[in-house]
Amino acid sequence: KFSTAAAAAAALEEPITPPVKVELTKLLINGQFVDAASGKTFPTLDPRTGQLIANVAEGDIEDVNRAVSAARKAFDEGPWPRMTAYQRSKILLRFADLVEKHTDEIAALEAWDNGKPYEQAASVEIPLFVRLFRYYAGWADKIHGLTLQADGPHHVQTLHEPIGVAGQIIPWNFPLLMYSWKVGPALACGNTVVLKTAEQTPLSALYVSKLFHEAGLPPGVLNIVSGFGPSAGAALASHMDVDKLAFTGSTNTGQIVLGLAARSNLKPVTLELGGKSPFIVCEDANVDEAVDLAHDALFFNQGQCCCAGSRTFVHERVYDEFVEKAKARALKRVVGDPFRKGVEQGPQVDSEQFDKILKYIRSGVDGGATLETGGQRFGSNGYYIQPTVFSNVQDDMLIATDEIFGPVQTILKFKDINEVIRRANATHFGLAAGVFTQNLDTANTLTRALKAGTVWINCFDVFDAAIPFGGYKMSGHGREKGIYSLNNYLQVKAVVTHLKNPAWL
Ligand code: NAD
Repeated sequence: KFSTAAAAAAALEEPITPPVKVELTKLLINGQFVDAASGKTFPTLDPRTGQLIANVAEGDIEDVNRAVSAARKAFDEGPWPRMTAYQRSKILLRFADLVEKHTDEIAALEAWDNGKPYEQAASVEIPLFVRLFRYYAGWADKIHGLTLQADGPHHVQTLHEPIGVAGQIIPWNFPLLMYSWKVGPALACGNTVVLKTAEQTPLSALYVSKLFHEAGLPPGVLNIVSGFGPSAGAALASHMDVDKLAFTGSTNTGQIVLGLAARSNLKPVTLELGGKSPFIVCEDANVDEAVDLAHDALFFNQGQCCCAGSRTFVHERVYDEFVEKAKARALKRVVGDPFRKGVEQGPQVDSEQFDKILKYIRSGVDGGATLETGGQRFGSNGYYIQPTVFSNVQDDMLIATDEIFGPVQTILKFKDINEVIRRANATHFGLAAGVFTQNLDTANTLTRALKAGTVWINCFDVFDAAIPFGGYKMSGHGREKGIYSLNNYLQVKAVVTHLKNPAWL
């Protein structure tokens, strides 16, 4: 640790060398790493400096076509949907073991490409990734249909079949976690996949996908196309031979891909989109604990979480104390090189996000919110931003309505529970909510009244593989993780057999 913030900022001038080499930069199609058909590449940059990490093959329509045909062939003719579910499950388990074994290199790639603290990637995200693949490996041989009673001489059963080729598009904020939420259930159900990674963070998906093949995944089952949204992403969303689309990203892009899917082959679509989640601190809360939890709920991953607790509603009786302590906590937040030990916050992912966040901070100041701390870039290199806290935030300010996706806490005051329910729900988003209270009745009232896909009570950001995640309203369609995600990747076939002279009905 540094004795002053100035010393910490100065240290950013000499970035630490990441403990990993970038070896995989090509597209993964049909089990082979290949160049883009156009031969084009794009740079992936280090958010600590804005400098090049590597040039990566830039997939486009032709590469998406190649990847989809490989996935189609692997589904229609290959062993993956035909092997026993237990065999599939063993490959998923072997993959999870290999990822666990290579945690250090994978976490280093994730931290380097994204800017997140290496310790966070290694101790939180990779273990969640591994847990998710083990969880779905457990489901693979427990997927089954039903035998049903119908009125007539019929034997009725349902078969739960894989859908076919799944197209999946993921964002940059949690490159590996998003990979796991998409690929895990799709493969456990026997589908094949074409995954388009985010252009800001293509590296870790290539590394782990190589391990997947070492674990015994047949060629063509999982294809990775790095590239941009309007070219590679749109080609996947509108492809006639993709049977299902799963998308995570912004609400605007979600609307685009839903339209592309509808206008092509009407493929079913799951969407995990943006949020502006309320974090409600009630009057009976233990203020010190609430401050810490609200801080983590907003600042985790540099504030780049779809479910960030980005509207901190605090009851008027504890408001002043809360604001003072939230400011003190933000001032203590350790910002620095993501490879340095003890760092809590690294740089934002790129210059675009960095500029957007600073613009929102200016709008908060101009709009009359009180800037308690932060508000500036941190250091002079890369895309670091000071942990920022606003109090006296009003519901109609842009910092209270828009997804900032950065380290900016906005604190709003409320008087009573009905008022906070109305204000918390007054948004087009509905991804998550946090409730901090020791009163069971208050917790139950809020849980049922809040329009959100997840309500965390006296906790936040609990992402176990078994817990479903998704949004109400414009935060999305459908749920990922848990048992609910299996339905995204299965077709139900009703099979009705006529019974001649049955012994019983
Ligand atoms: P984005 O929508 O710009 O990009 C997401 C992905 O979509 C990227 O792979 C991108 O290349 C692709 N894309 C962009 N334009 C496309 C197009 N026209 N056609 C097809 N694909 C296209 O979002 P982002 O800025 O990368 O990610 C941040 C957003 O993601 C935030 O709004 C955040 O809330 C959301 N998010 C949601 C969840 C969730 O589970 N709900 C999780 C993580 C992130």
